[in-house]
Amino acid sequence: MRIALSCLAFAAALTACTTTPPTPALSPGVDWVANSPGWAEEAEAVYAEAGAYVEAVAAAREPKSWAVILDVDETVLNNVEYQVRLETTGDTYTPESWHAWTAEKSAPPVPGVIDFIEKVNALDGHVALVTNRADSEQLWTEENLSDVGLTRHDDFRVLLTRARPDGPSDKTARFALVPSMLAVQGYPGVEVVAFVGDNEGDKPEDLSGAEFFCIDQGAMYGEPCAAVPGPGR
Ligand SMILES: [Mg+2]
Repeated sequence: MRIALSCLAFAAALTACTTTPPTPALSPGVDWVANSPGWAEEAEAVYAEAGAYVEAVAAAREPKSWAVILDVDETVLNNVEYQVRLETTGDTYTPESWHAWTAEKSAPPVPGVIDFIEKVNALDGHVALVTNRADSEQLWTEENLSDVGLTRHDDFRVLLTRARPDGPSDKTARFALVPSMLAVQGYPGVEVVAFVGDNEGDKPEDLSGAEFFCIDQGAMYGEPCAAVPGPGR
């Protein structure tokens, strides 16, 4: 009996020694984007609304005379895995860790975006992507996009990153450049009819009759466009 009790005590001590500290809980917004079907449903619903809008636009315009501009992060590509890693390890965002994440080229698409971009192209519109990812990350970004099925020519014609270190985060000048870039590529007179993004900076101050569609990113980054980030629209 004494031997048996000693073994039990030893086993209990061993269990205590090998117990790992609990993984930190994710912040509510990150947990929502990472784990809740509600996030995907909301994103799909926004893209369905944007799709219905461009259907109406296309019916009233000449083919190839209109374009939509989308942000990339949390609008086309979902980087919640990067955020989950940070919160799991207790780290915070750094340009270096973000750069390494983009080099992985493993971000999946935001739910609904593939169908939306397919629809814009099927309706003879143009797709332009304007992102604050660094110019040094452009090639990886384009390869990540290609891996999820979004390729230049077939799916988008413009991808504008942000030159570092001096390029402004404000997208106004790059938004304005999109019609000119399309014009010199053989599509003059294109009007931007819609913007899609997750941040206030993805929406131009002057929409000039265009529509803005907001993807809720659960307040993970920047200045969210969602009035109340997180569950519920
Ligand atoms: Mg974004």
